[in-house]
Amino acid sequence: MTMFKNGLNSVRILILIILAFLTRCVFGLAQEIPSTKDVLGFDVGSDHHLASYKQAYEYFQALERASPMIKLFELGKTSMGKPMLGAVITSAENMKKLERYKEISKTLALGKGLTDAEARRLASEGRVIVYIDGGLHGTEVAPAQHNLQLAYDLLTSKDADTQLIINNTILILVFANPDGMDMVAEWYHPNVGTPYETSPLPHLYHIYAGHDNNRDSFMLNLKETQNIHRLTNREWYPLVLCSHHQRGPFPARIFIPPNVEPINPNYHPLLVRWKNLIGSAIGAAFDWKGMAGAISRIRYDLWSPDMVDTVGDLFHTVSICPETQLYFYATPHYYTLNDLPEEYRGFTPSVFYPNPWKGGWWRLQNAVDYVLTCSKAVLHTAALYREKLLYGRYQMGMDVSARFQKEAPYAWVIPKLQWDAPTASLMLQKMQMMGIEIGIAKADFACGGISYPEGTWVIAMQQPFALYVKSIFEEQRYPDLAKLPALWQGTVRPQPFANAYLPPYDTAGWTLPYQMGVKVVPANEPLEVALASLEEVLPPAGSVEGDAGFAYLLSPKSNNCFIAVNRILREGGKVLRARVAFDVAGKSYPPGTWIVRAGSVSKGLLDSLAKELFLNIESVGATFKVETYDIKVPRIALYKSWVATADEGWTRWLFEQFEFLFTNIHDADIKGGELNKRFDVLVIPSMSTDDIVNGHKPGTMPPEYVGGITGEGVRNIREFIERGGSLVLLNSGCQFAMDDLGMPLGDALKGLRPPGRGADPQAEAPRFACPGSILRMEFDPSHPVAYGMPREAAAVFSGSQAFTMLPYRDGQAKVIAKYPQGDLLLSGFLRGGNYLNNKLAAVEIPLQKGRVILLGFGVQTKAQPHGTFKLLFNSLYYGSAQESESADKDTVGF
Ligand SMILES: [Zn+2]
Repeated sequence: MTMFKNGLNSVRILILIILAFLTRCVFGLAQEIPSTKDVLGFDVGSDHHLASYKQAYEYFQALERASPMIKLFELGKTSMGKPMLGAVITSAENMKKLERYKEISKTLALGKGLTDAEARRLASEGRVIVYIDGGLHGTEVAPAQHNLQLAYDLLTSKDADTQLIINNTILILVFANPDGMDMVAEWYHPNVGTPYETSPLPHLYHIYAGHDNNRDSFMLNLKETQNIHRLTNREWYPLVLCSHHQRGPFPARIFIPPNVEPINPNYHPLLVRWKNLIGSAIGAAFDWKGMAGAISRIRYDLWSPDMVDTVGDLFHTVSICPETQLYFYATPHYYTLNDLPEEYRGFTPSVFYPNPWKGGWWRLQNAVDYVLTCSKAVLHTAALYREKLLYGRYQMGMDVSARFQKEAPYAWVIPKLQWDAPTASLMLQKMQMMGIEIGIAKADFACGGISYPEGTWVIAMQQPFALYVKSIFEEQRYPDLAKLPALWQGTVRPQPFANAYLPPYDTAGWTLPYQMGVKVVPANEPLEVALASLEEVLPPAGSVEGDAGFAYLLSPKSNNCFIAVNRILREGGKVLRARVAFDVAGKSYPPGTWIVRAGSVSKGLLDSLAKELFLNIESVGATFKVETYDIKVPRIALYKSWVATADEGWTRWLFEQFEFLFTNIHDADIKGGELNKRFDVLVIPSMSTDDIVNGHKPGTMPPEYVGGITGEGVRNIREFIERGGSLVLLNSGCQFAMDDLGMPLGDALKGLRPPGRGADPQAEAPRFACPGSILRMEFDPSHPVAYGMPREAAAVFSGSQAFTMLPYRDGQAKVIAKYPQGDLLLSGFLRGGNYLNNKLAAVEIPLQKGRVILLGFGVQTKAQPHGTFKLLFNSLYYGSAQESESADKDTVGF
């Protein structure tokens, strides 16, 4: 019986094999290419279904097995260790010559030693490499889902448009945030059908950066950003880039270029034309298909180069950042006429919104279709203009190189003598990672009347991507759009009254040398010195000077010292910090100098730290006397609210990079009290008091994520401080101390700030505005929190604070940093700077046995301002270094 059944099965299998063979012969190979339903069991875009990254990976592997037109590769690992998937999709013919096309793309992008005739020949031979990514922002689900459908369609469609795409372009399709794609799928699916189906994630959808993973493009802190820009800037040199998002301006269904004003003044004009051309082609694709709701010239400007697309433009990659409409995840939603804003209910067509959307259902499937239509239009336009795009890339590079042979800046000089040399070299390494050529002077030279020695770092501007360097190094002057309405004709931002404040979409100023505390000098005359190209930028080598009989000294100026000290402490070393300036053997040392007792660590450890971290460690043979703090490993708590904030993620990232041990604590930990038993320092990131105290409102989230630290938590934090703990508040988080801890500080900007994005229209022009800019700041380097800082330095102002001191009895409040007199703006935009003059920016307030440290500006915002990281790190050590008996004893000992 059993045998007979097996026999029957064998026959059935044989028939199936024959049928499959016949199908293949009749219909060709395309029949073998599996759909997502075949592999995953559902169609892309189905209601309540999100493919996880794991599933997407599995599907792409199936595609690769089935077609010679797709090849998978790994961009590198994600922040959480997943392989980051990329797929090359092109005709089988092109695939055979991939290396050749890659080489052509690179050669035309860099243009080195190429004649015009050669460039034209390469342009006629080459293919357009197009980079498209989906899922950079994890909760914007449609783009990542669309990747699956786009690959399938390109491999299977036989129509003329698709054939043109396949033959003329090489698509690099990337999953930009695999970790986030999985996190969102894992959060969403169990919530489907519950009251929490559309609830936000209680944690960041990129483990460190959340939404800020698209604010990291010149900083390259994250593994994903590094992987993407290695691909775009040093390997594939795509001509066109499309980074999909899903925060479309309501009620439009998708935003496409042209963008809104203003643009980065460093774009090549041809680049801007290409963007507009491709944007119009995308718009036309929607209208051909009768898909309503494509809009342009709204919300998204082209000012700051911290995003995947806006940075690409500076490398002459025509970069598009479409924003499709999102409801929530894969949940469908029906919009009636009354859901649309009043001005859109008449469906008035306009130049940049000629086919208004009229409401109705909006499902994930619709969003995927919009993203898909957009991607195909981008590819099709790239295919149509293949040769012109290829040659145009070469032309833009040549124009830029030629421009800086005739005008300043001819170069940027970066002296090796820096406040913190390893940080300076880190900045240059980041420039190299973006494909910028760095040189060193082969001889001594002078520039602007100043002499520089042989070996000085120089960035010559006669290179194709020199405008990127200019953009990153120069001071930004964000234009006051309202002042010159005629100049900005066509601006479609709402301007409710004369002199209204029109903020940038993102930050107004970012000048990297200011943020990192690095000195760079523009050469306003041609440099008369030969340069050698530098493969790898390294700071001057570190070493341990002399033999220490008594102590080693480390400068408080170098950020790398924090890593060194953390390692020394963990090895059981004895570390002190000088509380005042002191002299040893005729040499002066500033307050905050690190003193490591010689007997407590091996010389070998110090040697290896000096070498690895480029530190100059001095040794002292004889005893000397100076007042000190005793430094212990601080027991650090970093508050992590269920209202996820990127500032917490960046702070966590920074602690890990600088090797501080810490514990993330939640509302329940703070409500549980007894914080002093576990921690010396509690850090609260930049966030609102309401989010800290009240958290998510009841009913909006699963119960375990509802509510903040509550009044009980506030009392416990106060008790923690009174018993000797240190509370460190970052940026807007400082408001908590004023709102709920009764700190004796006034808010100097109360009632002056402009309303946030999405708030009610402004009733009048705000008297104060400073959207993400860089200001001059004065520090007191004798305060333990400002040890190692210059007296004056650049500081990031972004939703930041300015304090006035109120009468206080509990002890002497101490000023750490303040906004000085005079013009404060270094880079960006500032209106009403007089409201900041002489106001306080960072303060220490003692409270019984402990203290509150308010760092009222962006000391570590997006982990970019290396120049002010010290304030946060110093706060951590200061928090555990009580003015204890042991400190006094050591004073005697010294
Ligand atoms: Zn987005």
